[in-house]
Order: sequence, then C-alpha cells, then structure tokens
Amino acid sequence: MIRDLFINFCLLSTFLFFGDMAHNMLRVRFKLSPWVLKAVSGAGLGLFGILQLMFTFEFSNGILLDFRQLSIMVAAGIGGPWAALIATLLIGAGRVAIAGGFTPASVLGLVATLLTFVFVLPAFLVKGSFRRQWTSAALSTTVLALGLLLYRLGESGIPLILFLAVLQAAGCTFTYHMMRYLRTTREIQDALKQDIEHDFLTGLYNSRGFESRYRLAIASGSPFALLLLDIDHFKKVNDTYGHPAGDAVLEQLGKLIREYVRKIGCASRKGGEEFAVILRPCDSKRAIESADKLRAQIEQTPFLLPDGQIIHITISVGIGMYPRFSESILVEETDRALYRAKQEGRNRGVLAV
Ligand code: GH3
Ligand code: MG
Ligand code: MG
Repeated sequence: MIRDLFINFCLLSTFLFFGDMAHNMLRVRFKLSPWVLKAVSGAGLGLFGILQLMFTFEFSNGILLDFRQLSIMVAAGIGGPWAALIATLLIGAGRVAIAGGFTPASVLGLVATLLTFVFVLPAFLVKGSFRRQWTSAALSTTVLALGLLLYRLGESGIPLILFLAVLQAAGCTFTYHMMRYLRTTREIQDALKQDIEHDFLTGLYNSRGFESRYRLAIASGSPFALLLLDIDHFKKVNDTYGHPAGDAVLEQLGKLIREYVRKIGCASRKGGEEFAVILRPCDSKRAIESADKLRAQIEQTPFLLPDGQIIHITISVGIGMYPRFSESILVEETDRALYRAKQEGRNRGVLAV
C-alpha cells in the first residue's frame, strides 16, 4: 500500500504543478475568459480524477480507495461550483465506464462521487479565507469517507477508519500547501512582471517597457511615429509647490496620456518628466495632429495638487517618423526635434526632418 500511496502522491504533485502551468498559460497567453477558464479547469480536474480512479489502492481486504475527492475540492477551490460540478460529473461517468456499466460497485462509486460534491460545495459557497474554506471542505469529505467506510465495515473496522482519517488529513494538508505555494508563486511572478516593465508612479511602461514596445513596433514593419514629450519648466513646479506636488502632476499626466493613446498606441515614462509615445500605424500628418491635440489637451487640463491648489502645465514634443529614420537614429533625431521645440519657445511640437 505504501507503494500505491507514493504513486498517488507523485500523480497529485505532478498534476497540480503542470495543471497550474497550463492554467497560467491559458489565462495569460490565450487570455481565456474567467468562465471558460473555470470550465476548462473543471474538465481538467475531472480527467485527472478519472486517472486517480485507475490508481486506486487496496486499503483493506477488497476495499479500494482513491483520492478523487481531492480533485473535486481543488476544482471547487479554483473554479467554484460549476468547475466542481463538471469535475464531479466526469469522474462519476468515468467510474461507471471503468466498471463497464452500472454495477453495484460502480453505482456505489457514482453515489460516493456525487455525495462528495454535495459535501464539498457548501464550504466554498461560504465567504471566507481559502484556508477556512479548504479546512471545512476537508472535514466534510473526511466525515463522508469515514461514514461510507463505517457503513461497509461496521464497528469492527474502526481502527482502519481511524487510519483512513489520518490519510485523508495528510492528503488534504499536502494539497492545500501545494496550492498555496503555487498561488503565491504565481502572484509574485505577476507582480514582478508588472513591476519590471511599468513605472510605479504613473502606471505607464517604464524605459525597459518602452524598449520592448519599440522593438515590437520596428519588427512589425509598419510605419509608426515616435513622440518624445517633456514638461516645460517642471523644475519650477517642484521648487514652487514641493516635490510631492510634482509627483501628483506626473501621476495625473500619466493617466491623461494613457487615456489619450489607449486606442492609437502605447505610452511610457522614460524617466523624470519625460514621456515617450509610439503611435501605430501613422503618417507624419496624423502624427503632428495627434501630438498637437495631446499638447492642447494637457495645456487645458487643470492639475490638482495635494493641498487643493490647481495649476496648469505645458509640454514640448519631438516627433520622429519610422522608417524615415532608421531604428538606430530615430530616438536621437526625435530628441533633437524636442530640443528644438524647447528652443523655439516650448508648448509646441516639432517634426524631425
Ligand atoms: P524644460 O522646460 O527645459 O524641460 O525645464 P525643466 O525644468 O522641466 O527641465 P529640467 O531638466 O531642468 O528639470 C526637470 C525636473 O524634473 C528636475 C526634477 O526636479 C524634476 N523631476 C524629475 N523626476 C521627477 C519625479 O519623479 N518627481 C518630481 N516631483 N520631479 C521630478
Ligand atoms: Mg527633461
Ligand atoms: Mg522639462
């Protein structure tokens, strides 16, 4: 039995690990909607439950056990009632199919599977921490498993039943910790990915994020425009109202720029009070119009400072076109145009020629 338990343990760990990887890929790369993701999770866990049925172990003379209840619990934990229901129905159908049809044993197995669903569900319908929900589901399924065994063995089986309780507790505890570990790791990965390419203050891409969007725009082969924006006399804002006021302006400006380019490109904060916008696909006429509309919108926008004061700012813009300038000189030429905009009096856009 130790050998079978070990195989079940390995199966469970492997499935939880690769299942989490697949779940993540479907969520991030294929961007499946939450509902589809829940249904797919339920189906995946149902199929895994059927696999568990094929690796039953003999607990005592003629009594076969498996960990299918863990699949239903995991489905309920990550996908809610519908995922758990899908997993339950698949496992129930699998139980009957493996027996070659409705036999007394397969009907008992089917009933036990459906009862597991009924015992697990309330735990995940009650709002609370995952730990509480899991503990409550673990207790319910343990009571159910012990009850079914007591029904089959009678009082003489009590030592075995106690042993099963220990096995159940170990399986539930292990699965809980594995799920917690995978969930925490995924959350940290998501946060790191977000932080690596985004600016904390404005939520826009940072210079690393800009580099990758820039390379993507070049690789697409379509013409695009690069806008480099710099706030005019921003040092004065800091000197007059203080650094936190400057930060508040940067934050609001970040929001405004993000909203402005939402449908036409992407924006990043390159550092300090300088921003870069990639407009795709675009000709120079459209780029100049877009830059001027954005500049005018910023000029008209009231910026709210932490002390309640309202100020106005202006920006200067350098506009560079790809492929008029090659990848290696586009940023430099656009920066030169921005410098000219500053020299020509600020609050204007200049096209790099
Ligand atoms: P110009 O019109 O020539 O661009 O003048 P400017 O004052 O904007 O330019 P300058 O480069 O002299 O100053 C930029 C200022 O931006 C200096 C710095 O105090 C401020 N700054 C840079 N990063 C931040 C930031 O994260 N927060 C705040 N509050 N200020 C910043
Ligand atoms: Mg600057
Ligand atoms: Mg400036």
